[in-house]
Amino acid sequence: MSVFPRISLRPEVAQYLKGAFLNSELLASIGKEEAEHHFQTLLTCLSHPPSSTCVRANVHLSSLGEIRVKLGEELKKQISGWEDEELEIVTHPVLPDVLLIPVVGPRCVQKLSSEVVVGAQCGNAVLRGANVFAPGIVACPKFMKAGEVVSVFSDVEGKCTRGAFSFQGMTTFVGNGVAEKGRAELFGAGETVRGVGVRMTEPLYWSPSFDGVLPHLAFLQNLPSVVASHVLGPRPGERVLDMCAAPGGKTCHIATLMEDQGEVVALDKIRNKTQLIRENAKILKLLSVKVFCFNGAKVVSDDVGHDTREPPFPPESFDRVLLDAPCSGLGQRPNMASTWTLKEVSSYPPLQRSLFHAAVRALKRGGVLVYSTCTVTLAENEEQVAWALRTFPDLTLQPQEPRLGGDGLPGAGLSPEQLRLLQRFRPELSWEAAAHIPLARRADVDTIGFFIAKFQKN
Ligand code: SAM
Repeated sequence: MSVFPRISLRPEVAQYLKGAFLNSELLASIGKEEAEHHFQTLLTCLSHPPSSTCVRANVHLSSLGEIRVKLGEELKKQISGWEDEELEIVTHPVLPDVLLIPVVGPRCVQKLSSEVVVGAQCGNAVLRGANVFAPGIVACPKFMKAGEVVSVFSDVEGKCTRGAFSFQGMTTFVGNGVAEKGRAELFGAGETVRGVGVRMTEPLYWSPSFDGVLPHLAFLQNLPSVVASHVLGPRPGERVLDMCAAPGGKTCHIATLMEDQGEVVALDKIRNKTQLIRENAKILKLLSVKVFCFNGAKVVSDDVGHDTREPPFPPESFDRVLLDAPCSGLGQRPNMASTWTLKEVSSYPPLQRSLFHAAVRALKRGGVLVYSTCTVTLAENEEQVAWALRTFPDLTLQPQEPRLGGDGLPGAGLSPEQLRLLQRFRPELSWEAAAHIPLARRADVDTIGFFIAKFQKN
């Protein structure tokens, strides 16, 4: 029996997911018992963080070896005083720009009487090594002062009223820390307070905080996201479109793989988020990134000239297109409770298809299109691939390099050969099992849920 709870989902969403994971094609290939086991392990894995932290090294500015040494020096400062912790930073056997750090936990941490409640997103970030930022705090004791030692709980269902003194709803303990701001400062003035609210000293899961750590050399990214940009395979001098780009993790990786030569056009439809892409490209010193606030579904127009440098662009303008699609995000970890309705989860496939239409139009003949999501549903992954192959006869599925994930999931009518061309990262390794696998190997199997398909336009 696992000590971890499963992710809490609305009953209709749980039923919907179960239907996809126990579909008749899958049952015919692996049998009901095994399919059920995989599904239950998936639900358990989603509620806790992966057992390693993945750092993409900005090899555009320094070598992997040098970044590893510098990172070791920086992170050692964080664990000084820990007697029995050794900091292990390992390179990835296949990915030339990845460093892996183990996550230690769940640790035995005593809960305290003074309780701070944070929003679910903030709680999830704490479980992955972050401190509590002030805007994430939703409740704290009436007389809490800076310097007080507190226990931090995550409001997993988002039901706590902002500014409350305490909360009796469903929460999860994420560790202890020291308040850097008192109650009066947090809630007194009525305006949003910035900066660290609670510095975590005894997190439930220890993994390094990257707040201010080598910002120009070390970029936190989930391992499958790093794989996606490698699969796209951009080369120096090319013109690449990243249709849904914020906050720009993959955009910057693509520009790095192109040695910052050529052009990476990064779009996002939310203006504030485009600023994040610009900031990241600036920090990582990448000049080839051009950012626009624009609806990706409208990126192509027949009515513009070939010399246009901003969207919309004429058809067949790009050598490669990445469609890292907006999705239901059900592969994200940790995620202890999703309050999403089935209507919300089901709203994504039509949006993804309209973006896909534009992606195909924007791509040159012979060009490469990568479609990716960070969710586990069949409807947003394999079913979208089956739809794309039916809808665009000039698209063919391509082998992926590197290939660290598993095959696609049966159930969408794709052939076994087609499923083998897909890459699905399935978080189905129990924490107990992960503990026995060396870090460099378990990082590939104990990831967030992620999906990658690579097409060529013929
Ligand atoms: N590729 C990003 C990265 O690696 O950092 C993550 C992208 S996230 C999965 C999806 C993004 O799509 C969100 O930032 C969202 O604002 C954006 N988005 C949603 N609909 C869009 C649209 N119609 N056009 C452009 N961007 C869109």
